[in-house]
Amino acid sequence: MQELESLKSLLASPQHVIITTHHKPDADALGSSLGMANYLKKKGHDVTVVTPSDYPTFLHWMKGNDEVLNFEDEKQALKALEKLKKATLLIGLDFSCPKRMHEFMPYFLESKAFKVNIDHHQDPKDFVDFRYWSTQAAATCELIFELICKLGDKELIDKDIADCLYAGIMTDTGGFRHPNTTKNVHLITADLIELGADNTRISRQIYDNNSINRLKFIGFAISRRLVILQDLKTAYFAINKKDLRKYNSQTGDTEGLVNYALSLDGIKIAALFTEREDGIKISFRSVEEVAVNKFAAEHFDGGGHKNASGGKSVLSLKETTDKFEQLIKENQHTLFNQLELIHEKN
Ligand code: 5GP
Ligand code: MN
Repeated sequence: MQELESLKSLLASPQHVIITTHHKPDADALGSSLGMANYLKKKGHDVTVVTPSDYPTFLHWMKGNDEVLNFEDEKQALKALEKLKKATLLIGLDFSCPKRMHEFMPYFLESKAFKVNIDHHQDPKDFVDFRYWSTQAAATCELIFELICKLGDKELIDKDIADCLYAGIMTDTGGFRHPNTTKNVHLITADLIELGADNTRISRQIYDNNSINRLKFIGFAISRRLVILQDLKTAYFAINKKDLRKYNSQTGDTEGLVNYALSLDGIKIAALFTEREDGIKISFRSVEEVAVNKFAAEHFDGGGHKNASGGKSVLSLKETTDKFEQLIKENQHTLFNQLELIHEKN
């Protein structure tokens, strides 16, 4: 609590703030960043949001999007570094491991500014002066809402801020479907709707905003790139570079694809392997007690939440999926054991 006081007293005078988040920001990463930025601007601070990469166009409606600096763009990166020189407060949102800032990481770590981390991922690394962190929170946006209330500023949450925060909570709970959809989530989103969040518009903007290319790509992936290992309760997609090119794939186009594999009856683990320029990007999803975060950390240089994690591989796409199949076979007892024990009990 003393630390919250130190943040509160820092925010009592105008600061030069930089907010950043993880590579390839999702709605929670961008929503928490812009929600926080809009709030701090209202309090009279100079605020810049720097993202380590671009992000999907279906998030571009958020207030403040036009001023976000993408660190992968040379000119915008120079602007970000100029801002960083003057920064007195750095805030890292929706990640707990500095590596997720990619190229922006060394600049963040070297800065002498006061550093804050607000997040809901497991195993946080020690890289800040003040951490507001809970794995009980469904989304970083949920923590931002709580923090603003704790700072005594709930009345500063306007429609724009409420829209940003609602978006992050909606997507990180999978549209209020995942087990992290707690009573607190519903209480907070009810508050956000009361404060002006346009919930139906936000869900249309995020979930019903497909390009025809993306819809055809999803159809192609399901019919040609889905591998089902029914006995191992596992299904996965392997998408190669040529597939992405053929469907003119844009940032965000593969988001959510992994859930089609998980939607199959009897499937408890789903994965998506995507061949990118810098290696294979992996998404893991699971249900119930099956934990994919440890699996991702041990075998694919990743991590995340129990039922939603990610990782990477420097092997070829085929070698990576072979390794994955082999590991699932070898580890099936550990992976599914919890699940069987629970079923036996019931
Ligand atoms: P997604 O599959 O949507 O990219 O990521 C799902 C979750 O996995 C994210 O919320 C994040 O917690 C985690 N995650 C994704 N990629 C990585 C990674 O490379 N390293 C770590 N530690 N976590 C990741
Ligand atoms: Mn999140």
